[in-house]
Amino acid sequence: MMDDASRLWTRRRMLEATGGLLTASAWMPPVLAAAPQVKLPDTFAKTERERPGPPNPQPESERVGWAVVGLGHLSLEEILPAFGQMKRGRVVALVSGDRAKAQAIAKQYGVPDKGLYDYKSFDQLKDNPEVQAVYIVLPNSMHAEFTVRAAQAGKHVFCEKPMASTSAECQQMIDACKKADRKLGIAYRLQYEPHHRAVIQMARNKELGTLKLFTANNGQNQGEPNQWRHKKALAGGGALPDVGIYCLSAARYFSGEEPTEVQGFSQSTPNAPRFKEVEESFAFHLRFPSGFQAHCTSHYGAHETKDLRLMGTDGWASMDPGFAYSGLRLRVGMKSKTFPKADDTVERSFSQPSQFAREMDHFSRCVQENTVPHTPGEEGLADVRIIEALYRSAQEGKVVKLEAAKKLDAFRVMAILNERDVQALQHELPALLKVRDERVLNAFAPASQEKASPEAHVPPVTSATQDSAPKTHPCTEERDPGAPTSAPGQNASQTHHCVEEHRFDDLVSTAEQDTAPEDRLVKPNSGQPPPPAAPGCSTCEFRGECTEKSVADAALEDPFDCRSG
Ligand code: NAD
Repeated sequence: MMDDASRLWTRRRMLEATGGLLTASAWMPPVLAAAPQVKLPDTFAKTERERPGPPNPQPESERVGWAVVGLGHLSLEEILPAFGQMKRGRVVALVSGDRAKAQAIAKQYGVPDKGLYDYKSFDQLKDNPEVQAVYIVLPNSMHAEFTVRAAQAGKHVFCEKPMASTSAECQQMIDACKKADRKLGIAYRLQYEPHHRAVIQMARNKELGTLKLFTANNGQNQGEPNQWRHKKALAGGGALPDVGIYCLSAARYFSGEEPTEVQGFSQSTPNAPRFKEVEESFAFHLRFPSGFQAHCTSHYGAHETKDLRLMGTDGWASMDPGFAYSGLRLRVGMKSKTFPKADDTVERSFSQPSQFAREMDHFSRCVQENTVPHTPGEEGLADVRIIEALYRSAQEGKVVKLEAAKKLDAFRVMAILNERDVQALQHELPALLKVRDERVLNAFAPASQEKASPEAHVPPVTSATQDSAPKTHPCTEERDPGAPTSAPGQNASQTHHCVEEHRFDDLVSTAEQDTAPEDRLVKPNSGQPPPPAAPGCSTCEFRGECTEKSVADAALEDPFDCRSG
């Protein structure tokens, strides 16, 4: 099974290696640069905060076409209006069980009649080339089915949180998207939000010192007992997976760590019709390997509350509201640098563009440039696994232990990519060599054979392929198979430089002219210094020097401001 990072270069390289038997556009979407920004003269003094300037949306025809699945509150109140702020996406299809509602909404957003589907005709999306990405905004237990069906229809999938009701369903979703070679992103809007990203940056920069504690409360007083949120079969659970997940997720992405011990407490008002099947409130405690702890509450029965506080040895960051769609307020407290006898408490306010536009633009860019989303399926699965452990803890009345993660941000894109790079280099060279050899053979083959289907020239990466691949490459022969994959002080990808260098020279010389950023992702150090990554830009997340430190540093940066152009 191939992952996104592997595909980034195997596909492109194989295309090139197959000598243009098919054009790149048949395989991969073109890389579309952000539209140039129109600059206006500065009107403010340098002492004023910097303004981002006018937006630079792509022309409609170049944007990723989205289908929105489920026309409930979130779709109508947040997601569809957010398309008006997007630079890289447009809505081209709607999926709803209510035709009249769909037609009314289609009129409002200019969706043509041919872009209207219901849950039965959903699979016909495969015949609509306008649709590239599908946004699943259905009750939680329907996420898995519609993600799998969307992937099978050849569409990239962006799915609301919680990813699914069970970790088994999450895994099915990941597997289905991998199998169909489609991207899967989970809609963690706050991981794309400027105030949250600023706190992540402060935490990784140690501005708050060593992180010690996190507290958070998220919930509202729910009405209407018969809504799907109160049915276990549709919601999977109550307050915890719906709103508690924001606290859980924030504890993970602020610290970058994964909890190793969790304890949960579930509570419902006896005989309350709303809470017959799902919990009213869920309080939980998470312990992380560094000693950092999180204590959170989520609720369906108390007045709306959405606050958080991250505490370190040297300062704290606090948000109230911290989980809302807008109006977030971030305060930071620490000893004053200018008045040692005082504390400074500052409010840091960023502009607040639609969180939904930001996350969808990021995913659109991933589709356009064939990169892995910042919050991939693995990130959604991590939360659902912890939710399962928390329910087990509440049921059994004890602490539940979880496996330790090996690195910071273990389920976000950087860690995944770094691991994938290494795996890809180890496993796919033989397949590439086979392609190279086939290409050479083809050069002498009769014309009829040259027109073989592209698949014939792209061997799947299986152990059989590896065994049968000719081992003619000088580097692979010279390389000591027993050599450690990474020497002390050396990053893992450096151990593959030699192999990579020749692979590029031999197989894909035209890649030198290719400046697409995804090429830099896996381009080795071939005697030349690696292409400079723009400072503060997501490109350095996975394309700079691949050291543990750089991975951690990259986690600090806002990968989305510069990416969205
Ligand atoms: P909603 O009830 O307002 O909308 C759900 C939609 O699903 C409706 O259009 C409904 O008709 C449709 N549907 C199809 N089959 C259904 C069935 N069998 N039962 C009930 N509805 C059915 O819900 P919502 O608030 O829009 O939530 C949808 C998803 O979005 C959920 O997964 C939720 O967790 C998520 N959500 C995320 C955020 C966020 O901030 N990211 C906020 C709210 C909701």
